[in-house]
Amino acid sequence: MRVLTGILTGILLLSGISAPAKAAGVKEYTLGDYRVFCFSEGDRATAFEKITLPEKSAALRAQAGANASGMNFFVVASGDERYLIDAGNAGKTTAALLEQAGIRPAQITHILLTHMHPDHIRGLLTAEGQAVFPGATLHVAREEAAYWSNPAQKGGNFERARQVLAVYGKRLDCFAQNSVIGIAASIPAFGHTPGHTAFRLGGEGKNLVFWGDIVHVPIQFADPEVFLSYDVDAPQAIATRKRLMAQLAQSGDFIVGAHILAPGIGRLEAEGEGYRFVPGME
Ligand SMILES: [Zn+2]
Repeated sequence: MRVLTGILTGILLLSGISAPAKAAGVKEYTLGDYRVFCFSEGDRATAFEKITLPEKSAALRAQAGANASGMNFFVVASGDERYLIDAGNAGKTTAALLEQAGIRPAQITHILLTHMHPDHIRGLLTAEGQAVFPGATLHVAREEAAYWSNPAQKGGNFERARQVLAVYGKRLDCFAQNSVIGIAASIPAFGHTPGHTAFRLGGEGKNLVFWGDIVHVPIQFADPEVFLSYDVDAPQAIATRKRLMAQLAQSGDFIVGAHILAPGIGRLEAEGEGYRFVPGME
């Protein structure tokens, strides 16, 4: 079966066609020489108390699914390297989901974090506080590491982030913006957190932009000025969202989002004063 799957994947790679889902919770795509795995922990609704809509967009609230959120993380396979992009909300399920795609934690060579909110880093530690990915280098933006490391900041989220930075400390890379990290390039996307970062992956003329938490709920496509209480600096987050959305609608690059409904991949088209999200990778 494994051989057959390998042959099938090989044929799909050669033909450049996106592979079908391998199992519930996991979808696999190809982009040039890369294999891209989208892991979903399940879609859910975000409470409207967490969402602020400008007056002009209050009617958007009534749209079906306006507040639906995905919970995704991703792996890109390139040769023998495996890049984990964010690490999921629940430590127990991250490794189990990876297993569904035949990926063992020991095979992860790099971890790229868009930011260090708990739903993106819980999957990095076992219940005992050990590294789930002991062979991986952890890549975190300098601005992000500085924010979570600031001793003046108190609370459980900060303690968890510091624990992650300490546990992976021997293999920690605090990168500068607009730099190349292996197969990806960092793009500053500050606001949601002070060091929130997107990653651009290129292949055969098409880019995939892993944009983390630029969007939490679908109404933000229609109106990029909608923001959530999780945004550390909402005006900066809005400005970043507008800038990136304008660029990505123009370029036609694919977007990969942590909270876009599963599997979290698609592209943007301008529509009205905002955008329309077109799911899939065609
Ligand atoms: Zn998040």
